[in-house]
Amino acid sequence: MVNYSLIDVPFNLRHTCWFCGEPSYDLLSFPASSHQVHHIFHQPIELPACKECLSFSSSGVFESIWSYRDKVKHSLMNKYAKHLGIGLQWTKEELEEAEFHGAVLEGFGKSAWQMYEIAKARIDYIGWELCVDGSPLEGDESYGFEFNGVRYLSVQACIDHHVKALSLDKILLETLVELVGSERFAYGLRIAELNRDISNKERNSIIDEIQKQEQDRVDILEAAQFENDDVTLPLVAVVMSEATAQPEAIEWAIEHQCADLETLINMEDAFFDAFEHLGGPTAFALFDGLQWYLTARQDPKWREENDPNDEFWNE
Ligand SMILES: [Zn+2]
Repeated sequence: MVNYSLIDVPFNLRHTCWFCGEPSYDLLSFPASSHQVHHIFHQPIELPACKECLSFSSSGVFESIWSYRDKVKHSLMNKYAKHLGIGLQWTKEELEEAEFHGAVLEGFGKSAWQMYEIAKARIDYIGWELCVDGSPLEGDESYGFEFNGVRYLSVQACIDHHVKALSLDKILLETLVELVGSERFAYGLRIAELNRDISNKERNSIIDEIQKQEQDRVDILEAAQFENDDVTLPLVAVVMSEATAQPEAIEWAIEHQCADLETLINMEDAFFDAFEHLGGPTAFALFDGLQWYLTARQDPKWREENDPNDEFWNE
């Protein structure tokens, strides 16, 4: 038996779905069952939700109501992917100017845009701050991947959404995002949009081309860095008893906000992508040195006394 607390609902929002802003239908209990209570870091709560947001399956493990909200938004996105695709592909003006012929298409422009606006508003909607009896719920909502102002459950969810909404080639977009990095998602997306219906052969040649292009980019960046060594981050190698951390590896870590071993392990693939052109053994030595360095940096005293690059970490 779970003891749910009803969240505080502002008077003017008393009939509003906390997830999407549509009229509410009933209370949603979170977490759905008693065995999930120990997974979440705040107390079990009840909050108003619309029929549709209530209808989505609550399966899965969620550590908070915010991560559950991401799932609800993701379900909405999936359901309305085609409508959202209208907005992604056409601006309102383009839709209005488009010449639709025939009786069936006559009203399409207008209603299509309305459908898009409704779906977009529901996905963008942010509910009020969660409090129970006046005290804010514990935890925070930073979670997932943000692109174009929309927060997705993950980079993969963002890829899946765009593939569905824009009828893109899934393997192509996935590979492109892997190659160029999720921080350049828009770039990968643009290439995928320009290459919708492609054969395996065409896909491979696009990927090859982007791979070469990325390599050139890395080379240019490195050359520039080499020339302006003292203009950009004037990092120095850190010699430790176990290994030496090289400036280029430290710079990579600072730029990628990779401040501890756990983050580094999670970003291992990205690291090797960035340094594989130096050859396996060199890349591995850089990685190894960085591992020891990040581990040593967990000690504030060591940082202060032994890391000449410490000041560059807090900018
Ligand atoms: Zn709703």
